[in-house]
Amino acid sequence: MKRLFVVLLAAGGIAWWWRNRSSVAGDSWSSTPAQDVPSEPPKLGGEVDAELLAILACPLDKQPVTRQGNYLVCQECQRHYPIRDGIPVMLIDEALTPEQAAAQA
Ligand SMILES: [Zn+2]
Repeated sequence: MKRLFVVLLAAGGIAWWWRNRSSVAGDSWSSTPAQDVPSEPPKLGGEVDAELLAILACPLDKQPVTRQGNYLVCQECQRHYPIRDGIPVMLIDEALTPEQAAAQA
């Protein structure tokens, strides 16, 4: 009976020592976060914040844009700016011209 008690005490001590040891090691590791972010290509679409949408404008003619499917469409030049993972890409180079957009539809 006494011997069992000693064994349990020793096991508890080891568990305590192990917990302390691993928590210290965890702290030293937390300064270097893992760099294993999956590098999937961004998908078209996603939710765009309404307030963000309200302040966005076409970089070409500074006209407001409206959402049409996965694109933001300029009311003036009808260029289609893609939304990728919820992030509007307001770049003329990335935009579809009205002709390209019509060809995609
Ligand atoms: Zn425009």
